[in-house]
Amino acid sequence: MAGEKRTILHLDLDAFYASVEQLDDPALRGRPVIVGGPSNRGVVCAASYEARRFGVRSAMPTSQARRLCPEGVFLNPRFSRYGALSDQVFGVYRRYTPLCEPLSLDEAFLDVTASRALHGDGPSIAARIRREVREETGLTVSAGVAEVKLAAKIATDLGKPDGLTVVPPGGVAAFLAPLAVGKLWGVGGVTEAALRRIGVSTIGDLARLPESAVSAALGADRARGLRALARGEDEREVVPDEAARSVGGEETFEQDLTGEVALARALLLQAGRVGRRLRAARLRGRIVTLKVKYADFTQVTRRVTLEAPTDDDRLIYRTARGLLARIEAGRPVRLAGVTVSGFDEEAEAPPQLDLFGGPADAGLAAPTGARRRQALHAALDKLADKYGERTVAPADLSDRGEAERWPVHRRRDRE
Ligand SMILES: [Mg+2]
Repeated sequence: MAGEKRTILHLDLDAFYASVEQLDDPALRGRPVIVGGPSNRGVVCAASYEARRFGVRSAMPTSQARRLCPEGVFLNPRFSRYGALSDQVFGVYRRYTPLCEPLSLDEAFLDVTASRALHGDGPSIAARIRREVREETGLTVSAGVAEVKLAAKIATDLGKPDGLTVVPPGGVAAFLAPLAVGKLWGVGGVTEAALRRIGVSTIGDLARLPESAVSAALGADRARGLRALARGEDEREVVPDEAARSVGGEETFEQDLTGEVALARALLLQAGRVGRRLRAARLRGRIVTLKVKYADFTQVTRRVTLEAPTDDDRLIYRTARGLLARIEAGRPVRLAGVTVSGFDEEAEAPPQLDLFGGPADAGLAAPTGARRRQALHAALDKLADKYGERTVAPADLSDRGEAERWPVHRRRDRE
């Protein structure tokens, strides 16, 4: 790939866990919020920008944070909520490229080189992603755009919070030059001190030194690598994770579940979650997989291939429910999961329709029922985002009548 100009985006949600708490409880907005371990022995997982003004930082002992910021609001983390929002945000990212490399729940690299023809240049894509994330989740995400990963990540950090920082094509070395050499990956305190002794304080200083001088201080291998980075040469690719090839989730139950009814209820919630993630990422898949782990840790998976790809909660639920008949539901179950895979690569799902119909659907050949379902999904997804999935999903349990009319699928897994 050397020589080919890439467009890399780095995206990082601002003070993610703390922002989610402020999003869900408006009374916390504008206040110093610190998410951390439950006891004074814990550490800070996230601090809102209000708390950072008191010097509170991630990974600091909670006891220290309490001393620095006695009026802070200290909260336990709610990882399932953060995970659900993270899924939604990554769904937005994957609308623009399948080359999405998550670094954590709140941080990712995207390679949008091949997306430019369709979606515009890097800065335009970053701006659209930032707007969609804000509109659809209420969260702010900072972005950096550059030809290489290193510069994109540093650009994001410089623009935080709620920033978009662009390193122009050909401008990576000039962008890096004035920055402290400690910003380079792999330069910690010891290396920084060694570099300082040979007169290097900025990245530009390092780039200008002859390699022999750097080698003398750091050894030949490290010198070559760091000098290349300092000159903006960072060949690392964006490595998409496997999760992009399937959308699913599994749940370990607090108490083992026994019997089809209890399992069906769990599958219904999971199907709703999977459907929402598929629609957020504008993906539809043909393969529905049910995974079940029994209390004795033996595990079975069952799968079917549908006639047509889907992102429909109820079809996913009905399919998974059908698969339940093929396992021993009478045994205690400790974990169950539903996954949809087998995406149509070329055929991106059409954009979701406006709830009130609109000319957008005029050209679609979908039957009226499918259109109605899409509109319904759009509305339910908004409700679930706002009030939590459990407010909407259980109502479907009583809706068997309509569910029975969903199309029949054929089983291909035994062929
Ligand atoms: Mg972050």
